[in-house]
Amino acid sequence: MTDVIIIGSGPAGLTAAIYARRAGFSTLVLEKAPMSGGQIINTGEVDNYPGLQGINGFEMGMKFREHAQSMEAAFVEGAVLEIRADGDTKEVVTVEKTYQARAVIIAAGAAYTRLGVPGEEQFKGRGVSHCATCDGAFFRGKATAVVGGGDVAVEDAIYLARFCSKVYVIHRRDRLRAAEMLQQRLFSLPNVEMVWDSTVERIEGLEQVDGIRVRSRKTGDEKTIAVSGVFIAIGLSPLSEAFASLVETDEKGYIVAGEDCRTNVPGIFVAGDIRTKKLRQVVTAAADGANAVASVEEYFLSS
Ligand code: NAP
Repeated sequence: MTDVIIIGSGPAGLTAAIYARRAGFSTLVLEKAPMSGGQIINTGEVDNYPGLQGINGFEMGMKFREHAQSMEAAFVEGAVLEIRADGDTKEVVTVEKTYQARAVIIAAGAAYTRLGVPGEEQFKGRGVSHCATCDGAFFRGKATAVVGGGDVAVEDAIYLARFCSKVYVIHRRDRLRAAEMLQQRLFSLPNVEMVWDSTVERIEGLEQVDGIRVRSRKTGDEKTIAVSGVFIAIGLSPLSEAFASLVETDEKGYIVAGEDCRTNVPGIFVAGDIRTKKLRQVVTAAADGANAVASVEEYFLSS
């Protein structure tokens, strides 16, 4: 029996592991794949984490992990199928094994949302990507498109514009959601073209992507834009399927909890991007990890 099982090894899970070990709890981090690390390890540059300005996302993820490991948190690979929480002992069921704990912190994060248009699945890995920093280099000297208007879409477009001949940003509205500073950087780039008020109807090609069919939401007109790569950056969906029958979730699947990270089930806590919250960033994920452990301590004292 472990004191605390933490599901997920992104910034929320790893911060929770550091705080749990500091509190003297035996701590097991379950991660779905070896060195999972969450979204941060696929992020190019993080510019808004205090004290670590401009740090590479992978490097940051590794620093978090090294810190948790140095505190002797245990790491085990295992995709969680369900949590059983009938009594004081919680059971975390993975494909291989069932683990027992006094408390569980769910920090399983979120994953890229799919566009849901023809060609998206067909050309995955053959021109369609969700990760500019992972796959961008394949499109050196070529035209690409980024779909979305948030921070990720704009960061991806700025990154791709460094080496792509042209980057189209396809956004469904006439203004971006991304931070003002990022927008200014984007608009200053000569090889970026904004395609406003438009949606992608399908992704086209034979073996590889060779274009996208785009429709104007204002006029209904359609046109094909020739591109070799399409980077889809339309937000995140919580990875809460395995937990949705146990804890309360909202209409989008985020696990409902306040800043204290307590779910509606005693002994089950939630931290990071998978929790209902306003701002999903590394700094707020890390804060959740700390708050979740503070709530675990209160729970242990009261139970
Ligand atoms: P996001 O902020 O939710 O933005 C998603 C974008 O995709 C929005 O512009 C949205 O359009 C568009 N969109 C959503 N569904 C769509 C659909 N079906 N078809 C077409 N467009 C669609 O997501 P994100 O950019 O992935 O960022 C996720 C979170 O991480 C955010 O909280 C963000 O602030 C944070 N983040 C922060 C940083 C940073 O601070 N440096 C970096 C990366 C990410 P509308 O605008 O019309 O809704």
